[in-house]
Amino acid sequence: MLNINRVSRRCFCRILPSTSRFQICNSNSSQTPFLNSYSQLQNFSQNLIFSRKTLCSESAAKLNNSSCWNCNAVPKAAPFLFCDSCRTVQPHHLSVDYFQIYGLDKNYEIEDGILERKYKDWQKKLHPDLVHSKSQTEREYAAEQSARVIEAYRTLTNPLLRAIYILKLEGIEVNEEETVSEPELLTEIMEIREAVEDATESKALNEILSPVQEKLIQWSKSFANAFRSRKFNESLTCIRRRTFYDRVNKEIITKL
Ligand SMILES: [Zn+2]
Repeated sequence: MLNINRVSRRCFCRILPSTSRFQICNSNSSQTPFLNSYSQLQNFSQNLIFSRKTLCSESAAKLNNSSCWNCNAVPKAAPFLFCDSCRTVQPHHLSVDYFQIYGLDKNYEIEDGILERKYKDWQKKLHPDLVHSKSQTEREYAAEQSARVIEAYRTLTNPLLRAIYILKLEGIEVNEEETVSEPELLTEIMEIREAVEDATESKALNEILSPVQEKLIQWSKSFANAFRSRKFNESLTCIRRRTFYDRVNKEIITKL
């Protein structure tokens, strides 16, 4: 876990999730099988990490050279995972975004189940048995790729993180610490929090949770419409509001 976080900070300048955060994002029971797979893939990445400093500087150097490090073939698009010509594992390429990793168009709305299916495909491709006999360089690249596959999965399966990420691809940074100043929303949030504090039974908590989750769906739809129309200020407003409902949602689930 620690190794992966270190890699992530060096290579991607982002902190990879802890398993617990992943579980919160994927509390839906239909996704439970992926929790095991997720740990396995993570362990796999961890086991393959050697000489991280060298690896990352090597990878960074490769970013300026799109040809295969082994056979020099120039790919049609930035390669992810294997070189099409010689099938050697390639270093991760930052120009390949998370949507491309999962073969998706850059849209906020993602068809149900598609990420899970493609994540399973990645697990097969990155299975330790397939790369354990390869050179150390390739095993290290495979570890990088699997870390990126995991990070992409975590980001794209979480509606809020996905919204923040897709805006980032448009060059718009979201300040996640920004506070909301609309009095109506603040009053609503305060009332919900008081109700959560007063609630002692799960029935009462579920009654509070239900409208909050409806709000989350509503704000996701509003974000999707605003983003599709390229109304980025409106998109940011949706993210700020969703952030508030997300926090309350987590508070209620924690207490349940
Ligand atoms: Zn090649």
